[in-house]
Amino acid sequence: MSSIKLDIVTAEGVVFSEDVDVVVAPGVEGQLGILPHHTPLMTMLQPGELRVRKGGEEFFLAISGGFLEVRPDRVIVLADAAERVEEIDVARAEEAKRRAQERLSQRPPDLDLARAEAGLRRALARLEVVQRRRKRKPGT
Ligand code: ATP
Repeated sequence: MSSIKLDIVTAEGVVFSEDVDVVVAPGVEGQLGILPHHTPLMTMLQPGELRVRKGGEEFFLAISGGFLEVRPDRVIVLADAAERVEEIDVARAEEAKRRAQERLSQRPPDLDLARAEAGLRRALARLEVVQRRRKRKPGT
């Protein structure tokens, strides 16, 4: 079976770099599924889940928006931030969500609305990936 090289890169470094079978990314116009031999394209990403399948394995990451390019032999994701589901700090994301919601409801005069909304979307994307994908321990 053919595969395609996926590189997910942030300002901090390479988060993921492997040959994979399928990439499903949160494009600004909706979910984008990419298989090997996909037509070249470029698109913006929105905060959400990026899912990767490789053989029998699946990987789940939270992406905070960015940019995706499909080339004939590879997919390149330049992400504002990206965390694998197992790396997401839930308490930190809950706190970021709470802070953003508080600002948005209190509307202080110096509120940067776009920034508060973007922070909320990043936090919600992280929490949703954890909720959907993190394996629970038996009995919890
Ligand atoms: P916070 O307000 O908690 O910093 P943020 O959404 O403003 O959240 P970002 O600017 O998107 O944070 O990310 C900064 C760095 O921190 C990135 O490397 C990102 O991967 C990491 N990061 C942010 N939130 C989390 C989290 N909940 N769990 C793990 N890593 C996180």
